[in-house]
Amino acid sequence: MSGQLMGWDDTIVALATPPGIGAIGVIRVSGKKTFDVMNELFPSKDLHQQATHTIHVGFLKEGEQVLDEVVLSLFRNPKSYTGEDVIEISCHGSPFIQQQVMAAITSRGVRLAKPGEFTQRAFLNGKLDLAQAEAVADLIASNTAASQKAAMHTMRGGFSNDLQALREQLISFSAMIELELDFSQEDVEFADRTALNNLIHTLSMATHRLLHSFRLGNVIKNGVQVAIIGKPNAGKSTLLNALLNENRAIVSDIAGTTRDTVEEVLNIDGILFRLIDTAGIREHTQDLVESIGIEKSLEKMRAADIVLYLFDINEITPEQLQQISGDLTREDINHLLVANKCDLQSEALQQQFSALFSNIIFIAARDNRGIDLVKQELVARTIGGQVNTESTIVTNARHYDALLKLAGALDDVQLGLDQKVPGDLLALDIRQALHYLGTITGQITNEDQLDFIFSKFCIGK
Ligand code: GDP
Repeated sequence: MSGQLMGWDDTIVALATPPGIGAIGVIRVSGKKTFDVMNELFPSKDLHQQATHTIHVGFLKEGEQVLDEVVLSLFRNPKSYTGEDVIEISCHGSPFIQQQVMAAITSRGVRLAKPGEFTQRAFLNGKLDLAQAEAVADLIASNTAASQKAAMHTMRGGFSNDLQALREQLISFSAMIELELDFSQEDVEFADRTALNNLIHTLSMATHRLLHSFRLGNVIKNGVQVAIIGKPNAGKSTLLNALLNENRAIVSDIAGTTRDTVEEVLNIDGILFRLIDTAGIREHTQDLVESIGIEKSLEKMRAADIVLYLFDINEITPEQLQQISGDLTREDINHLLVANKCDLQSEALQQQFSALFSNIIFIAARDNRGIDLVKQELVARTIGGQVNTESTIVTNARHYDALLKLAGALDDVQLGLDQKVPGDLLALDIRQALHYLGTITGQITNEDQLDFIFSKFCIGK
């Protein structure tokens, strides 16, 4: 694959730290000319003579002009992030200095790196497979413990190992079939059909497990949409504030999510919860569910992964609540009933409600009572006990799509086995399945696809 890609042979440079003022700015240079160019700018030592993985303090100079006092970290091909010769320059974090250093480097035939180009080179040099490379971008974008964990697992090759296992099984399956093809004249069946059936079944199960994990993966990566719904004065703002008090999350924009509604973001146990339409709650607009059935609030509830239906326990009868809960259930809305203002009520009434509803929580938002229960329940409904296992979670839509196609191809193989189709037809379907697997890890790619994937990275990575 090398050599075919445009600009693949160039030496590239980029600022790896965020632009602006900071204590230190890191500039990365990668490619064949790295040591030549840096040697010209760093007169105190001959960098060509220095060993890989060493650091060097000295002045960067453009002629007689001192640009900065810097620390250089040297990595020689192939033992570097990109697999090429790499030098990382830690200079002072002034945009002016960084610009001067970049200009000195680019004036020597080094070009600015495209977004993700360092990682793209790491992929092309076999340092990472595609799934791992994509996880690098996810890791940088991760803003909770759970998303960091999922991205790290993939980056370290957890997902790739799973896929490799699938691949090996498929190849052994196909080897059995191909063997049969060689002897097709003689009408023998080498490949034991029961063993083949079992193998395809196992493969199918593993693929479906990965597909299934995507729902959770998506949640981990993008957060869970939560809507707080209830009549005016039920205590929605009070609950919102109580939830936000300890758990307001600091988030940067997450790529690929639109923000057309005002939302607040909570981080509970490492999972992001996005409280949608919080403007509506704060402004006390009347359209926020006077009664269930209003189209607009239904829309809002359908958009949410979880709905908290909040009500004043002193203002509702069990019959009325049954009606509302029944409506929500019929609409297939994943909801929790949250009874507020329990400070004004006797335990007896609560017991009456608990006997009737399984998904009810009693709180007094104003006194911060029961808020932890709300949080626990939000987490429980989201992960259903899945997250603390070390198993692979698919978080990437491209991988999901490929796995879906893989599952389809495996179904075709299974169907072929059931209908006892000839081995050469089976072999065709298996090749198709292998193809889809290969697109995930990057054994099968095209240039456009690669450019698209890496264009979503930040510059300098
Ligand atoms: P919203 O219209 O649903 O947003 O309701 P608010 O959060 O503005 O609350 C309406 C009123 O109920 C306010 O006066 C709150 O102080 C009061 N309130 C909220 N939670 C509680 C509670 O747990 N107990 C009591 N007694 N009053 C509450």
